[in-house]
Amino acid sequence: MWTDANRLCGIGLVYLSDTKAQSNSNNGAAPQWARIDNGCWGYGNGGTQHSVEAHELAHTLGSVMGGAPHATSAGHCYDESDTMCYADGGGKAMQQVCAPNLEYLLDCDNDDYYSTYPDPGSWLDTHWNVARLAVPARRRRRRRRRHGRHPDEGSGRSCRSTTRRCRVWRPRRR
Ligand SMILES: [Zn+2]
Repeated sequence: MWTDANRLCGIGLVYLSDTKAQSNSNNGAAPQWARIDNGCWGYGNGGTQHSVEAHELAHTLGSVMGGAPHATSAGHCYDESDTMCYADGGGKAMQQVCAPNLEYLLDCDNDDYYSTYPDPGSWLDTHWNVARLAVPARRRRRRRRRHGRHPDEGSGRSCRSTTRRCRVWRPRRR
């Protein structure tokens, strides 16, 4: 929520649960909120400045967990630059790992809280990964129910061939 007050910059609720399971509390099990006061509205320049709104929202989606490889002890990361990393007093020296102009993106190196394709066996593969939020997963399930299995999924054939007929992914008629 945008708060027409100037008491703090931003704050967001995060549950300290790093389980990979969809039952993770950060996965919509309970209400979560973020607040951004008017002095910090609208930051984020697509360059070296991150959006406070994006930062607090990313907290409510479950970042950054204390066990993540580059986590501070205060819910952020120290491998700059990304939206969730800053010197928060959490006892870690900052490291400049990614370019400064990536400040507005999520997760430098995609190894601490967000990766759509974590390395097998990596921390994000075995713990909570914001990219595993149920909302997109539910949407995928709903889409599958409505449209059938995507030809690229599982045993389905892909439609790369131009010479033979293959199943295309389109809505079933009812
Ligand atoms: Zn924060």
